[in-house]
Amino acid sequence: MVTFSVMLDVLIIGGGNAALCAALMAREAGASVLVLEAAPKLWRGGNSAHTRNLRCMHDAPQDVLTEAYPEEEFWQDLLKVTGGQTNEQMARLAIRESSHCRDWMRKHGVHFQPSLSGTLHLSRTNAFFMGGGKALMNAYYRSAEKLGVQIRYESPVDRLEIENGQFVAAHIGKERITAKACVVASGGFESNREWLREAWGQNELGEWPSDNFAIRGTRFNMGVLLKDLIAQGADTIGDPTQSHSVAIDARAPLYDGGICTRVDCVSLGVVVNKNAQRFYDEGEDFWPKRYAIWGRLVAHQPGQIAHSIIDAKAVGRFMPPVFPGEKADSLPELAQKLGLDVDAFIKTINDYNAACQVGTFDHAVLDDCHTEGLQPAKTHWARPIDTAPFYGYTLKPGITFTYLGMKVGESTAVRFGGVESTNLFAAGEMMAGNVLGKGYTAGVGMTIGTAFGRIAGVNAASAAMKNIVNLENIKEVQHAAT
Ligand SMILES: Cc1cc2nc3c(=O)[nH]c(=O)nc-3n(C[C@H](O)[C@H](O)[C@H](O)COP(=O)(O)OP(=O)(O)OC[C@H]3O[C@@H](n4cnc5c(N)ncnc54)[C@H](O)[C@@H]3O)c2cc1C
Repeated sequence: MVTFSVMLDVLIIGGGNAALCAALMAREAGASVLVLEAAPKLWRGGNSAHTRNLRCMHDAPQDVLTEAYPEEEFWQDLLKVTGGQTNEQMARLAIRESSHCRDWMRKHGVHFQPSLSGTLHLSRTNAFFMGGGKALMNAYYRSAEKLGVQIRYESPVDRLEIENGQFVAAHIGKERITAKACVVASGGFESNREWLREAWGQNELGEWPSDNFAIRGTRFNMGVLLKDLIAQGADTIGDPTQSHSVAIDARAPLYDGGICTRVDCVSLGVVVNKNAQRFYDEGEDFWPKRYAIWGRLVAHQPGQIAHSIIDAKAVGRFMPPVFPGEKADSLPELAQKLGLDVDAFIKTINDYNAACQVGTFDHAVLDDCHTEGLQPAKTHWARPIDTAPFYGYTLKPGITFTYLGMKVGESTAVRFGGVESTNLFAAGEMMAGNVLGKGYTAGVGMTIGTAFGRIAGVNAASAAMKNIVNLENIKEVQHAAT
């Protein structure tokens, strides 16, 4: 058995946004820091490398952000998408942190740009990373290396040694790595297909729905430490079937398909299942507040398959997916190309078209184009599907990240039987379930990871060192907590 001879101050497990935020903050506070990333260098950065933006509170226009997005509105948005399954104190802490973290991010080499045009109405609420999440993670790694953070790739931790609720060591096979404090930021369990199967079980048709999910991001978030911590009695929060789940192109790869496999025209047309039946209001709300429920909706359909149908009027109004859709000059031809029963499909579209009320179409507001007398209704952006060419995109569920995690409070300390560990902290997807019981609003994953990664890093440094070298970081996160 190998043991590290010099006792580290802070061990960070994971190599995504939450982990690097924690590592940088702990190092800036004066701690010695080691990052253990399961992935090889080429694939470092977890799901964070796939991201584009973070949701930010602001009271007035700020560089790339337009107008204002006050704390209360951000909170109300979260309350709405989670249906109240959120912890207000934790949510407000993350929201407040989001108002001032960008200067710190810039200091570490992150650049921002105005929002991209497309279907997501985000210029007011979300700051986009120039070069996307890959560039953000590269900037953080560069900065961490410059500051003297040690980084080890291909280092998947398989268990934690915990005594009386206190972190003692992390194990990678026969290697034992001790540290005075630890931050676990190793993501959810979305890449673990067996665990997904166990959580989702079989449906009434005898299908195993999760066998048809694609994992939109990294293959390395296997939930190994989540499982280990649960087995060691850590307090948890969240339902294992709840997740951020998007309807993606059914041709997407099993892992790492990323953003370009998302199909964003749902709110501009109708969605039918493999029996050519509609099953949900496609125009319920703005796409950023709804796109993350469509994976789950499709998961509950037979065969975990659905088809997003649009006509020529929708073209140019959404971010085109990487794969072209099926194209046809008539609706029967489209049904055939999609493998749907032609009569059932034509009836569904005719019923929908007849129910559309004439209104003023405006995709930028919750407009008055809606259906009447149709089940399920389409409450906004309902326009007849009547203008050739017609397009169909076959969809399947794309899981982004799971919500089961550690139940923590503002300190992010892992709890055992309600008692906070003094030296073990959790950040990012590992504890996102405290804010996200269900639902999602675009950009809040990075808000949570940045806020609690930074807090966890400072608290871990503080736990590890008797004399903190740099108090600035502590003041900064304490300021957010008030
Ligand atoms: C395609 C896609 C697009 C997205 N777009 C956005 C967006 O624009 N805005 C937004 O807010 N959110 C977005 N998200 C969600 C966002 O990625 C997550 O909320 C966020 O990245 C979580 O950060 P994290 O650090 O907790 O996890 P990750 O970034 O997933 O990091 C987890 C890390 O832990 C490592 N790891 C796992 N197990 C172990 C182990 N046993 N030992 C050591 N290391 C381990 C992994 O290799 C990985 O590096 C997107 C996700 C995907 C998949």
